[in-house]
Amino acid sequence: MATAAEAQVRDKVFIGGEWVSPAGGETIEVVNPSNEETIGTIPACGPEDVDRAVAAARGAFQSWAATSPEIRAGYAAAIADGLGERIDEIAATVAQELGMPLKLSKMIQAGLPRAHFASMPQLVGEIAWEEEIGNSLVLQEPVGVVGAITPWNYPLNQIAVKVAPALAAGCPVVLKPSEVTPLNAFILAEVVEAAELPPGVFNLVSGTGPVAGEAVAGHAGVDMVSFTGSTRAGRRVSELAAATVKPLAMELGGKSPNVILDDADLGGAVADGVAKCFLNSGQTCSALTRMIVPRQMLAEVEELAVAAAEGYAPGDPFDPATRLGPVVSAAQLRRVRGYIEQGIAEGARLLTGGLEPPEGLDRGYFVRPTVFSEVTPEMTIAREEIFGPVLAIQTYEGEDDAVRIANDSDYGLAGGVWSGEPERAIAVARRLRTGQIEINGAAFNPMAPFGGLGQSGHGRENGRHGLEELLVPKSLQL
Ligand code: NAD
Repeated sequence: MATAAEAQVRDKVFIGGEWVSPAGGETIEVVNPSNEETIGTIPACGPEDVDRAVAAARGAFQSWAATSPEIRAGYAAAIADGLGERIDEIAATVAQELGMPLKLSKMIQAGLPRAHFASMPQLVGEIAWEEEIGNSLVLQEPVGVVGAITPWNYPLNQIAVKVAPALAAGCPVVLKPSEVTPLNAFILAEVVEAAELPPGVFNLVSGTGPVAGEAVAGHAGVDMVSFTGSTRAGRRVSELAAATVKPLAMELGGKSPNVILDDADLGGAVADGVAKCFLNSGQTCSALTRMIVPRQMLAEVEELAVAAAEGYAPGDPFDPATRLGPVVSAAQLRRVRGYIEQGIAEGARLLTGGLEPPEGLDRGYFVRPTVFSEVTPEMTIAREEIFGPVLAIQTYEGEDDAVRIANDSDYGLAGGVWSGEPERAIAVARRLRTGQIEINGAAFNPMAPFGGLGQSGHGRENGRHGLEELLVPKSLQL
């Protein structure tokens, strides 16, 4: 595990192509959730620093927008190369600040962001930058300066899905990463510096949500806010952005259903469903946290779910055998335990896991992999995003009931449907009100549009759709 001796001190932020000292001297500590040691400090920037970053971005806008999409995408590809060279360092940094097991961290937390930057040369070729409609020439133009505010759970990936398309679209960026897992963003800024982007095209300001985040969201010089985080903070960002009528992309929380139909391969469906709930210690916006199963199969599902869940012994993310790391912070640990308590109090049946810390782990923010059964739709643990390794099993009687329960949510981010007949699963998937659905555990596709409905937000990221989100059409009548 990491020791305090490795602590990284970041005392500058990246603005206008240079590392500069923030106006104030306040700092934020970064904590390793596996052992509760401080592993770094970052500046807590204030409105003055955000003003400076926005000014740098505005100064870069005209010439960056006038650069060809191919050249802009070439810079994104150079950033991908730079990230590729530092892939082990990025994987270890995120494993330390977030607690995701190292092997997964390398693939998801370091590999996916690299792939997003690398996809830009292909994607700019898929955009109709100029199009004739009747007597009009319709141009696709960058929306302007983008304020990007990102969460801690897939920190560099959520940054990449905003910054890479913004650069390709011609939009300078002011990035405010999560203060909980910020160290990876500083590595990205170094990679951007090495790729020699024109000054001001990418700017990093670190700090808290209520101070630096709100300064970005409400800034008159920011043309669009792209936000990923909780629905609570998304609401506040939307209010602030409304003052200057900014367009928004909102990638928020979820409580995603996994509908297992009566003809599904139950063993495969339950094991995969548990894995999709527990990935990243359950701290995944699209986690399949509600397993919706035929009432007559409940006993069998319960047995399979317990066996699968108990295979996720929590442990040190740097131990190759570990499948489940800690949750990210003491606050998150309290929150997850609070939900487990509430599940018990409201009458859900605890099958495995629970409130006790896992054996042998007396330091770090670890939670036992937890499965509740007989969770009814009105229970808090069926309605609210827990963001911990906690699965809720719900039952249905017939397909219509399954669809009704699946759609009975304020959220609408992701989902899964399992059936022995893919056509039947697709027919049910068409009836679910969510942004993406996997059929029989199909793989995540980073080039397909990703985003939500309802209180999961609006706007799409990833692939061509993510790039289009940052473009606005202009019509020239000829
Ligand atoms: P959070 O809302 O606490 O923080 C997200 C970001 O917003 C951070 O950078 C934070 O500093 C900032 N922030 C907080 N309050 C703010 C305010 N008042 N004004 C401006 N900025 C503010 O979320 P989190 O705890 O970091 O991340 C977890 C949440 O993110 C979960 O709800 C998860 O579902 C969601 N998420 C969604 C997606 C998606 O694509 N839909 C992806 C990842 C995470």
